[in-house]
Amino acid sequence: MVDHIVRLLLVEDNPLHARLIQQLLGGDAQLRCAVESVDRLSEGLARLGRGAVDLVLLDLVLPDSQELETLFKVRAAAPDTPIIVLTSMDDVRLAARAVEVGAYAYLLKTQLNAISLGRAIRYTLARARAHGGEWDAPIFRLAQQQFLKAAQIMNLDDNIRQRLLFPQRTQVVSFPFLRDDQQQLETVFGYRVQHVLTMGPTKGGIRYHEDVGLGEVAALATWMTWKCALMKLPFGGAKGGVRVDPTGLSNSELQRLTRRYTAEIINIIGPDKDIPAPDLGTNEQVMAWLMDTYSKQVGYAVPAVVTGKPVVLGGSLGRKEATGRGLVYLVEAAAQHIGLDLKGAKAVVQGFGNVGSFTAQFLAEAGAKIIAVSDVSTGIYNPDGLSVEALLKHVAAHRELKGFPGAEPISNAELLELPCDVLAVAALQNQVTAENAERIRCRLLAEGANGPTTLEADDVLNERGVFVLPDILANAGGVTVSYFEWVQGIQNLTWTLEEINQRLKAILLDAFQRTLHRAETCKLDMRTAALIEGVSRVTEAKRLRGVFP
Ligand code: NAD
Repeated sequence: MVDHIVRLLLVEDNPLHARLIQQLLGGDAQLRCAVESVDRLSEGLARLGRGAVDLVLLDLVLPDSQELETLFKVRAAAPDTPIIVLTSMDDVRLAARAVEVGAYAYLLKTQLNAISLGRAIRYTLARARAHGGEWDAPIFRLAQQQFLKAAQIMNLDDNIRQRLLFPQRTQVVSFPFLRDDQQQLETVFGYRVQHVLTMGPTKGGIRYHEDVGLGEVAALATWMTWKCALMKLPFGGAKGGVRVDPTGLSNSELQRLTRRYTAEIINIIGPDKDIPAPDLGTNEQVMAWLMDTYSKQVGYAVPAVVTGKPVVLGGSLGRKEATGRGLVYLVEAAAQHIGLDLKGAKAVVQGFGNVGSFTAQFLAEAGAKIIAVSDVSTGIYNPDGLSVEALLKHVAAHRELKGFPGAEPISNAELLELPCDVLAVAALQNQVTAENAERIRCRLLAEGANGPTTLEADDVLNERGVFVLPDILANAGGVTVSYFEWVQGIQNLTWTLEEINQRLKAILLDAFQRTLHRAETCKLDMRTAALIEGVSRVTEAKRLRGVFP
């Protein structure tokens, strides 16, 4: 039951439809609402200007405005007021576009009844309330909008849509750790988010970064769900993080922080519950401390509680390089599809950590010429090609790319806009945006990072014919070999590197072919096709398990 009277603004020029909608609103006993009705967009905008409207029910075709223009104008006039589109236009692409640009729901008047309308209003208000809180990060909005676009195209059931839009379980902790001087305590926030508990245990990395927040972790957990489902792995998605700058911590501080964070989330992780892995700012050593802390609590060694741990503790051969290796298997398949010969092709790599450095290495092995790379310290460019071996040596000695001889320094922004055949982004989210998408001059964009491309940029890249390997496909090599590591761990057996790479390639190429087939047959972009592959699998599993109790 909604606890107060919902103030609805109905913008509808057809008096018959307006009356019908008002009747339906009166027919839902759970909804108490006061409806104001106007029949012109100009009147609607004037009413919104006076405030005190909880939700807009919006017809898109009005005497003074048409289709998406109507939606854009209402969004601009009242950006925080949620909008449900009520329309007679049964057009899947328009519906997808409407939810992509911010409508909370797109309902067809012909299919409307009191229950579906009442439920859509309640779900919309629940979602709108989550905004403005810690959930509300641009990256979580991006993950939600991508999902909603796919859901609209799939005509996904309203209840399942609502279930998948927010994570099932979230743990927020705040905890202290001791600095090295033995006197100073520092208190930090930590998170563990499990998005879908339907498919098996949950799986996802742990990120240490000074900007980590609930919204970011929730977005990354959501993408993990679609990624695991796309790869047909028996996991739901999860993610964790601590809001801290790890580069400012000593090794012993990092160890104390990791052990305490592990203790804080210990009840919800475990080899059958939720299995962490490394992500930005964490590595094999952090996973070893996490495994040790968990094992000490239960009284025996439990290697399968984490993946991405050192091989001597039960880590898998090939895990460290798996994301970069997998990315390059997919770049090879995509290059073949678009008729690009990788031998001599010009490649640019943003980010030179785990994913970026292995990507550069494997691209070079495939015959590509690496003309530019970057990390947080600098970008470097040499049109004649850079030696990846020399780059690796320089970073091993100096911890960063800055100061690498024989190359021109460039900014990260300039690097993204270099003319090239393959651009691999392997650093942070939000790199290819509406601002620079027109100037991205690659044929193939490979998303090693999670969420590097905004929705607006996606549209521009698609229009310009750039072939995109979307993140949930492109960087899935990591979680796939993590799955192999977990399987080896719970069975106490080991596979050879050849077996690992063979299985990895087979799984990734199968997902690539399914995604490409769906994209071509349904005339979709690769990202939406990959999402629909993942979301369909999770939806089927949810339907089969039913609702408890
Ligand atoms: P990492 O910490 O090993 O490396 C990150 C790299 O990005 C570093 O070189 C860093 O200097 C650089 N960087 C940071 N800020 C930058 C900036 N503003 N501009 C340019 N470069 C910057 O992290 P990683 O594990 O390689 O992860 C990179 C991305 O790949 C993340 O988005 C992560 O979520 C994603 N990812 C990682 C894995 C994995 O197995 N590690 C798997 C899937 C996806």
